Amino acid sequence: MYDGNPNVDENGYIYAKWKIAPNTYIIGYHGTMYAYLFIGTEKALLIDTFYGYGDLRKFVEDLAGMPVMVANTHGHFDHTGGNAFWEHVYISAEGQKDMKNTFGEEHQKRFEAMPHPDYTATTIGDGYIFDLGGRTVEVIDIPCHHAGSVAFLDSQTGFLCTGDELEPGQVLLGAGGPDKIARHKANMEKLYKRIDEIKFVCPAHNGSPCDPELISDYIELDTRILNGTAQIMPNTAGFGYGPKARKFHPDDPDQVRAQYGGASICYVPWEK
Ligand SMILES: [Zn+2]
Repeated sequence: MYDGNPNVDENGYIYAKWKIAPNTYIIGYHGTMYAYLFIGTEKALLIDTFYGYGDLRKFVEDLAGMPVMVANTHGHFDHTGGNAFWEHVYISAEGQKDMKNTFGEEHQKRFEAMPHPDYTATTIGDGYIFDLGGRTVEVIDIPCHHAGSVAFLDSQTGFLCTGDELEPGQVLLGAGGPDKIARHKANMEKLYKRIDEIKFVCPAHNGSPCDPELISDYIELDTRILNGTAQIMPNTAGFGYGPKARKFHPDDPDQVRAQYGGASICYVPWEK
């Protein structure tokens, strides 16, 4: 049962916080999940909200010392679950379609009991700017892992929040064949054009912050998957449709994991 301590949720998991730059925090949850808190002189912005345990809103508003707005990298519930602590959020049009899809009954009951399960959303996409006072955060469309994925580029720190589209564990791309890999590559090339502005890549899972070199590793990996020369690893590294994930996705086709440098992608291979 949640006891009201915003630092710890009802499962006993701590909300970690580390100040990575002035007025800038990484919020850590459950070991390998991250949200980002950007605090300006006028407003504060939280990128992603985990599953919605404990009292995430109080936790981040205590840190910021002011009300906090919420935006999401995409619509998967491990990024949107805590949205229902707020009356309103900012998310892409595609993200709005499944932001309240709770991945099953356990989360559904809890979600319905949260303060604002009927929360509303403003649509964001390419070029949308959050002006927080003294710093801006720009939205960049990078849909692939999810049809509504966006990245967020903070002008003060050069942090690029990439959600599940670019991370140091494995990017889950699933089915979709060469078109999907090509789309991922195009997104990475779009980000690479901004490389001079990007100081750190800040993913939602598996390690943060990361050197921007990770973007070029992903461009190379996408290229090698497309031309058939990618190194295929002997397993899918646990969550990439190994035995644990199979439990949740019993009917999905088997995936393989390809790797290059710091980049790793799980996908369904296709007939050549
Ligand atoms: Zn996701």
